[in-house]
Amino acid sequence: MYELRGPDVAGFRHDDQALDGKRGTRWPLETKQFIQGFIADSYIDIHSARLMTIRCAEIMEQGLDARTDISAIKIAVPAAMHRVVDRAIQVHGALGVSSEIPLEGMDRGARTLRLADGPDEVHKILIAQNVPSAYRNGESWDFGL
Ligand SMILES: Cc1cc2nc3c(=O)[nH]c(=O)nc-3n(C[C@H](O)[C@H](O)[C@H](O)COP(=O)(O)OP(=O)(O)OC[C@H]3O[C@@H](n4cnc5c(N)ncnc54)[C@H](O)[C@@H]3O)c2cc1C
Repeated sequence: MYELRGPDVAGFRHDDQALDGKRGTRWPLETKQFIQGFIADSYIDIHSARLMTIRCAEIMEQGLDARTDISAIKIAVPAAMHRVVDRAIQVHGALGVSSEIPLEGMDRGARTLRLADGPDEVHKILIAQNVPSAYRNGESWDFGL
């Protein structure tokens, strides 16, 4: 995933020249609460997606049926990626939707993933069938509790 660092962090500066006419007065955007919210939300999105994927890999390694978890990941991870990339586009302003940096292509890629690996709706149907049928078969569902 595209990371908010390096020269971009330097680029996340608000030039207030237009506001008060002073030149060279800049604040790192990372000190702004809206942007701090973006950073925290993106951290949570990335971390949750990673943990879901690791948990699913564990289920597969145990030779258990991972189809429900795979469907859940195919919904959740592209959606998380889409939100993260969208926030990154927002903080880059117009540059974010230009072809000069890769965010615009990543945005399209994340959106495409919601179709290419099967539509979200179809994965939700599978989950909604599998969870109750596990209970009907006398199994439980491990939510890690
Ligand atoms: C870049 C890209 C790469 C792809 N790569 C592959 C590949 O490698 N292998 C492969 O097999 N396919 C691949 N596909 C095809 C992809 O799996 C299909 O596009 C996807 O399954 C949706 O099918 P469709 O486009 O025919 O749309 P449709 O089946 O017409 O679905 C359109 C929309 O209808 C809704 N919908 C569909 N079915 C249901 C349902 N049962 N219940 C409720 N709503 C529903 C959803 O909102 C869905 O998005 C790829 C697609 C893209 C865009």
